[in-house]
Amino acid sequence: MAKLVKQRVTSVKHWNDTLFSFTTTRNGSFRFENGHFVMVGLEVDNKPLMRAYSIVSSNYEDHLEFFSIKVANGPLTSRLAKISVDDEIMLSEKPTGTLIQEHLSAGRNLYLISTGTGLAPFLSIIKNPQLYDRFDKIILTHGTRLVSELAYRDVITNELPNNEFFGEQVQKQLLYYPTVTREDFRNQGRVTDLLASGKLADDLGLAPIDPVYDRFMVCGSPAMLSDVCDILKAKGFSESRNGYLGEYVIERAFVTQ
Ligand SMILES: Cc1cc2nc3c(=O)[nH]c(=O)nc-3n(C[C@H](O)[C@H](O)[C@H](O)COP(=O)(O)OP(=O)(O)OC[C@H]3O[C@@H](n4cnc5c(N)ncnc54)[C@H](O)[C@@H]3O)c2cc1C
Repeated sequence: MAKLVKQRVTSVKHWNDTLFSFTTTRNGSFRFENGHFVMVGLEVDNKPLMRAYSIVSSNYEDHLEFFSIKVANGPLTSRLAKISVDDEIMLSEKPTGTLIQEHLSAGRNLYLISTGTGLAPFLSIIKNPQLYDRFDKIILTHGTRLVSELAYRDVITNELPNNEFFGEQVQKQLLYYPTVTREDFRNQGRVTDLLASGKLADDLGLAPIDPVYDRFMVCGSPAMLSDVCDILKAKGFSESRNGYLGEYVIERAFVTQ
């Protein structure tokens, strides 16, 4: 296992009964690409209990941020959900992942398709000013069951558009499309259905998705990833892998047991 280091918790925010976020200190030597994940955990019975976590903060920020599920009886999250400021967490020193801009061929629009905590890597990615130079439009979707699970709405719709360095680009180029399946909300339905039917692009005033112009990063449950891959393949998109630059990349937001 990669070397583990300790970091101090600097803030904790509980969004609802099932989701929370926390920030920690960051060593200057800890380098990562926006979109990467890293192993995060706690010492339990004198042993590290580690799980993969996407990094929410961007690589130029001096802290680290994570967005977590609370799994009832989950070995790590039943404990991690109780952390408070000044507690210590463990972090591996080897961030990695596939959700990297350079893993995609050149394109016009970038779709960031997420469900649940799959939003996490995209929060890091949309804070990268270079993204707005590379793509005309960045479409961030977040699918959840409940409105209370639409975390980070204020960051996306308020903080980033007012960023002193690239807020203007965010205002012009970032299109945010939250959608909810089990409650009334302005957008409703599964992200996969909205993509397959063309309603997502239509609602945003965009042309139907096309492998010539559109690029995709996808992060969600294994079932959601499988559905999105089927939709994209049927429309002529190919996956980037092993050095081949295609039109989409995927990352699992969690693994089912
Ligand atoms: C590449 C990668 C990146 C990940 N990034 C994140 C992240 O940013 N935030 C995060 O909360 N989790 C993330 N996970 C999942 C994380 O690694 C753990 O599974 C999670 O923290 C639960 O740990 P646990 O020990 O409590 O339960 P586990 O024993 O790990 O999981 C128990 C069960 O809970 C369900 N589950 C686990 N994680 C989730 C989730 N995120 N959403 C919905 N159901 C889930 C699954 O059915 C799983 O089988 C990621 C996983 C992978 C593979």
